[in-house]
Amino acid sequence: MNSKIYTNNEYIDWALTHLKLQDLKENYENEINFAIENNIGYRNFLLNILKVEEEGRNNRLIDRNMKAARFENFKTIESFDFNFQKSINIDKIKDLHNLSFLNKKENIILIGPPGVGKTHIATSIGINACKNKKKVLFTSAIDLVEKMSIYQKKGDLKKLFKSLSKIDLLIIDEMGHLVLDKEKESMIFQLIRQRYEKNSLIITTNLPLGEWDKIFTSILSATAVLDRLVHHCHVISIPGDSYRVKGKQKEM
Ligand code: ADP
Ligand code: MG
Repeated sequence: MNSKIYTNNEYIDWALTHLKLQDLKENYENEINFAIENNIGYRNFLLNILKVEEEGRNNRLIDRNMKAARFENFKTIESFDFNFQKSINIDKIKDLHNLSFLNKKENIILIGPPGVGKTHIATSIGINACKNKKKVLFTSAIDLVEKMSIYQKKGDLKKLFKSLSKIDLLIIDEMGHLVLDKEKESMIFQLIRQRYEKNSLIITTNLPLGEWDKIFTSILSATAVLDRLVHHCHVISIPGDSYRVKGKQKEM
């Protein structure tokens, strides 16, 4: 601050900006008024303003993580109708939302036909992870493979892998809607190997694991990928009906 004489209020505003205490800057007047009206004492006042800044920072971090995760839709466990999908073990799905799988670097594979709620569940677990300040990235398998090819052509594949290694939870949606050549298969293999026991993956697929050779160039390649993927993994099969056509069959 230059030598011009500032009022106390001007100094407070300047210092809070300079020290990047954004939430405190927006709220300190309210906190001062609250402290005076309730006569809460110096220590409680200090406690309150620290909480304001800390909570504000947390919320901003969560917002940033949510944007960076690139979810296609906002879906939560609260909006999931377990009565419709009776085959799903509610306790198991709720437990996965507690994120201990993430701390243990385990994976989740959600398997089932279209419309049974695989992407919904993967997204809602991902959103929970964001709320717990984890870095998440949601991508379709096709987009991921395309991105890896682009980076490889630029000679930057290592750079992409490095940035992906910083993601705590990578959600690969719709693994099964693609057929990989040798080069793309090798990139997927590298990715899975890199994350093995280090970071978690959620994969959704319409293909039972026994049919993954349809994605890869050989049974051997599929086995090499599945071997690492499934070692520490929660495999959730949802054999039910599509929610998208719920009630519609009756009308047909
Ligand atoms: P999948 O990924 O298995 O093809 P989605 O998760 O995309 O299916 O589900 C299709 C649509 O139906 C989404 O809008 C999703 O939110 C909704 N949906 C699926 N299952 C349920 C359910 N049991 N309760 C509420 N909504 C559901
Ligand atoms: Mg889906």
